Amino acid sequence: MAGAESAFDRRESPAMPDTSSFGRRHFMARAAAVAGGAALLGAADLTRSAPAHAYTKPRVYTRAEWGARPPTSPAQIIAAPDHLVVHHMAFPNSTDYSLSHAFQLSRDCQDLHMDTNGWADTGQQLTISRGGYVMEGRNRSLEAIGKGANVMGAQTANENGHTLGIENEGTYTSVLPPTALWNALVQTLAWLCDDYGLDPHAAIVGHRDYNSTECPGDALYAKLPQLRNDVATALGASPLRAERATPYVRSNLPGPRRRGDHGPAVGPREGS
Ligand SMILES: [Zn+2]
Repeated sequence: MAGAESAFDRRESPAMPDTSSFGRRHFMARAAAVAGGAALLGAADLTRSAPAHAYTKPRVYTRAEWGARPPTSPAQIIAAPDHLVVHHMAFPNSTDYSLSHAFQLSRDCQDLHMDTNGWADTGQQLTISRGGYVMEGRNRSLEAIGKGANVMGAQTANENGHTLGIENEGTYTSVLPPTALWNALVQTLAWLCDDYGLDPHAAIVGHRDYNSTECPGDALYAKLPQLRNDVATALGASPLRAERATPYVRSNLPGPRRRGDHGPAVGPREGS
């Protein structure tokens, strides 16, 4: 009881005098009603913030910070995604893990997508460098995520209307990402799963789950069960739901033909 009362005191607002025994009894009665039989537990629980959206958002560098060009047309805000797509960028596995390199990576990717692919802007919503820096991709992505929404991207052909894409620097056909990238990817996916209310075991997929492509690379794709487990653990989920590891196998799916080619990104009926 003492714990519940002291917790109540911390919640008190100036407009509701905490010296009023009526006020306190009234509050406790309401707490009991809300919590059903577990009155004391209920009173204590009411002092905590809501459990939803509890995961700490990673530091995401904005387009202004990495020096994005303006898009040729503004991105379209669409409904929240139901799947989060893991890609590799089919860029070199750089050993420059600096922030300045990460910003250059985002600019290079945007140039490739706009000038070579002819798209309105960067295709993916988020980019992660091998040094573990997370960056906004397509314009309005952070604005949309902040509203529980998404932007129409150009990252997974025919599925852009319901997916959010994360491009990871490097090529993971036979080697795995560095720890810094892996940890940043876990953090980013945990933040998104929490924000959108998604189950990591159901929501996290690889690009090849939708399109004929090796992306995100045979090596990284084999690690997706562990990635889902790590994200679930970061969110405090029960280990009873852990997924089994899958063996690394050569998929013989189409791999990158050039730098930045990670597979089909735009369908015939999708804008870019
Ligand atoms: Zn891809």
